Amino acid sequence: MSHSEFEHKAPAHFIHKIIEEDLNSGKHTSIVTRFPPEPNGFLHIGHAKSICLNFGLAEQFNGACHLRFDDTNPEKENQVYIDAIAQDVQWLGFQWHGPVRYASEYFQALYDYAIELINMGKAYVCSLTAEQTREYRGTLTEPGKPSPYRDRSIADNLDLFSRMQAGEFDEGAHVLRAKIDMASPNLNMRDPVIYRIKKAHHHQTGDHWNVYPMYDYTHCISDAIEGITHSICTLEFEDHRPLYDWVLDQLPVSCHPRQIEFARLNLNYTITSKRKLKRLVDEGFVVGWDDPRLHTIAGLRRRGYTPASLRNFCEAIGVARADSVVDMAMLEFSIRDDLDKHAPRIMCVLDPLKVTITNYGDDAQWLEASNHPKDESLGKRKIPFTRTLYIDRNDFMEDPPKDYFRLSPGKEVRLRGAYILRCDQVVRDPQTGAVIELKSSIDPETLGKNPEGRKVKGVIHWVSADHAVPCEVRLYDRFFTEENPEAAGDFFQCINPNSLVTLKHCWIEPSVMENSATHFQFEREGYFCVDCKEDSASHRVFNRTVTLKDSWAKIEAKK
Ligand code: ATP
Ligand code: MG
Repeated sequence: MSHSEFEHKAPAHFIHKIIEEDLNSGKHTSIVTRFPPEPNGFLHIGHAKSICLNFGLAEQFNGACHLRFDDTNPEKENQVYIDAIAQDVQWLGFQWHGPVRYASEYFQALYDYAIELINMGKAYVCSLTAEQTREYRGTLTEPGKPSPYRDRSIADNLDLFSRMQAGEFDEGAHVLRAKIDMASPNLNMRDPVIYRIKKAHHHQTGDHWNVYPMYDYTHCISDAIEGITHSICTLEFEDHRPLYDWVLDQLPVSCHPRQIEFARLNLNYTITSKRKLKRLVDEGFVVGWDDPRLHTIAGLRRRGYTPASLRNFCEAIGVARADSVVDMAMLEFSIRDDLDKHAPRIMCVLDPLKVTITNYGDDAQWLEASNHPKDESLGKRKIPFTRTLYIDRNDFMEDPPKDYFRLSPGKEVRLRGAYILRCDQVVRDPQTGAVIELKSSIDPETLGKNPEGRKVKGVIHWVSADHAVPCEVRLYDRFFTEENPEAAGDFFQCINPNSLVTLKHCWIEPSVMENSATHFQFEREGYFCVDCKEDSASHRVFNRTVTLKDSWAKIEAKK
């Protein structure tokens, strides 16, 4: 059977080609991949790459992809993480085949296989301390030394291993090691530990186990039990592949998956490690795992990233075997691109300055505007125009430079979707001298028309002070000021102090209350989303997803 029928949009990368060959050669008739997170934190953008790759390949080749929790470290794991991870995978638009799986479901099988290894003389109980074990292991340039316990009898090993599980020994007293090769140039092959004593309660298996299998031993066997055909992982596991294969070669498993490594996603200006993200959460640098400044999937979602934007990003960065660092601007491009197409436009004034139109009456005029410049299906909305408006303080300057096209005393500007406005008088606070109001007038002939005999270049946004809805707006920016937050040693040193600016007194068009959209373009300001946790009808809260243009590129260019 030819598999050219599996034509799809995504570019064919090297893993895609391997799978195609395996199907064409008849090695496999269908494929099974898996996404195997450890439930010790929330997923981040790097995991999104792995999810898109594993689930994406299964989709492209009509195969299956499993979600399997690699839960061999019970103390670090938590049901909260399990639920969050499953939610993130589904939110990205993928559904695993069959039930959610857990490596812990295979603990009995893993234990039985360990006994088989002992019986074959291929595993032994070692009683060196952790420190001695390190000494005996040797280095990259020196071979290791065999443990004095390496030649324990099979009977002794069986007895000790069962007593380890029975809870007779303290943690650290013994471990079970595979008997491979202490002189191997690959340190992973120097009699790796495959079981350790842990008297920990496990979220799935309770208090049944006093010994827990190590990751390398667990992963390959779990893959084999599930009939995984292609076990795709990141490059750091390349040196573990011989161990993966060794374990499966010894045991009577019915399938031997092929491990294939690809380069992990590294993104500048952020960190992608659950362990480090957990420190930011635990030590209170952020409000939680879903803080919109974090590149966790939950954080990106709350920030306003859409599943499509993340999937497009993962497709755009591709899959390769060479490590590289992806520019944050690429991620930001992907969300701008998606929201530009789909987000309704609306006007929101972030830093309000009152404008009174002295030649306008007391009645509101309801103007009509398109919600999207290109997509008519997004409909139209009514915008009230009244005598008192708010404009953004940034759009007014008392002493403007020559090329300033926004509002200044005596000058004109176009109010978006409405009239040409002229600033006639600046009103100040008698105490502070601050500008508190602009007395202005409109040219009533300029609704939807250019003024006669003069050119007005600037366009600014505005809202009716009588109708606008008060809201809180959170301006998020990059969380780190350094491209590589870890280069300076401690990533806490380069946290951007301006990564969140909260504006509590903003005003948004009233149509927002009738629009069920969750993402908007605030005209001239950027893309914003409704905060999924703290927004309510009586207290509207919006998060800035991304600015309209890449402001960091400008800063970099000026440096
Ligand atoms: P972390 O260090 O953040 O905990 P991890 O690799 O230990 O990452 P796992 O939960 O073990 O996290 O990862 C699940 C899957 O996601 C693995 O197959 C892993 O290779 C993959 N993965 C993790 N980080 C990245 C990344 N930055 N880019 C691509 N894939 C990744
Ligand atoms: Mg890990």
